[in-house]
Amino acid sequence: MAAAQTAAPSCRKKLYNCPMTSQDCIFCQIAAGMSPASIVYADERIAAFMDINQPVPYKTLIIPRAHVETIYDLSGEQAAWVMQAAVQIAQAIRAASNCDGLMLSQSNGAAAGQEVFHFHLHLWPRFWGDRLRISVPRSLTPRAELDRMASEIRARLDF
Ligand code: 5GP
Ligand code: ZN
Repeated sequence: MAAAQTAAPSCRKKLYNCPMTSQDCIFCQIAAGMSPASIVYADERIAAFMDINQPVPYKTLIIPRAHVETIYDLSGEQAAWVMQAAVQIAQAIRAASNCDGLMLSQSNGAAAGQEVFHFHLHLWPRFWGDRLRISVPRSLTPRAELDRMASEIRARLDF
């Protein structure tokens, strides 16, 4: 029994060619078809499925198939695949839900609210009068400080 629970599924690498697949990761399991999910789209690179929580209807998640924890680990290619899918799926969500707006979000690290450590992009359809409340305090900042922070970031860019 214990062995069955811990054994790596033998089909996973063969089917999806994903050497980094994490055994414990719920999103890897969904991508491999080993955990139930309502799939919107899947190919050899990405998968999109309904979020199990629907604070707004039609809320959808997109993941790279490879087990990549955060944006810091994501390759440019993987980022492009996820965003290209987001562009298509956003159109389909709008058509299906008749939403008034659509919001993207993505969390990295527990401090940012990340709960599932497999990179994922949230697509949130928004409706006038929906009950989502995202509170962002306004903080107008002097130009000198904005310039300082910009230069600190610029100095660390390597592209
Ligand atoms: P995070 O907080 O990591 O950015 O978001 C994790 C998201 O994954 C949440 O919106 C949560 O509802 C969703 N989620 C967690 N477990 C499951 C699951 O087993 N199936 C699906 N479809 N979504 C899940
Ligand atoms: Zn994973």
